[in-house]
Amino acid sequence: MAAGCSLSSSVTGKDVRLLKEKYPGVPVVSYVNTSAEVKAETDICCTSANAVKIVESLGVKKVIFLPDDYLAKYVASQTNVEIIAWKGICMVHDQFNEREIHDIRAKNPGIKIIAHPECPPDVIKASDFAGSTGGMIKYVEDNQPKKVMMVTECSMSDNIQVENPNVEFIRPCNLCPHMKRITLPKILECLENETGEIIMDKETIKKARIPVERMITIGR
Ligand code: SF4
Repeated sequence: MAAGCSLSSSVTGKDVRLLKEKYPGVPVVSYVNTSAEVKAETDICCTSANAVKIVESLGVKKVIFLPDDYLAKYVASQTNVEIIAWKGICMVHDQFNEREIHDIRAKNPGIKIIAHPECPPDVIKASDFAGSTGGMIKYVEDNQPKKVMMVTECSMSDNIQVENPNVEFIRPCNLCPHMKRITLPKILECLENETGEIIMDKETIKKARIPVERMITIGR
């Protein structure tokens, strides 16, 4: 129950209401790592994979994009739609810096460095490729680089290594303390004993469902 997310905790429903007052008529796009309370104030959700597509699907000149400032900057670099960002960050991706990327490249000639768009812009610029979680996996599968570093949460490399035994993964090992709190035994305990139930009011559930369903209709 203690597991959270630095992105999700960076913005509240009240913050979104204030933003909507400041920018009347500008639609709100929220990353899926947000609370139900924030989703209830949101027009449409997005993931890192479909963020640009979702923003452009609205057919407007300007959107409010929450809560990840780095993902907002990445989206802004890929579209002509004006992006009003929020100052949230993922505490894992924020730890990477450009110097570290150059150091790893110097120590590992020929390495391919691929970054998640939640990384700071200078890190993305110093990398060979930027893409969503799915995009990063596809890059490794398609290109089969001899050596690769995935600039994202450390556990992801472990998962992809299994499917790509010929690729050597250089692990940056920035772990998310929140994700590490969620273990298989704890999930089993929740399922068997129905512990950790989260109770929400019906109105929030109804409103929060709408932007998620809109996103699903548009797809990846
Ligand atoms: S890695 Fe952790 S802090 Fe970052 S988005 Fe995922 S859950 Fe949130």
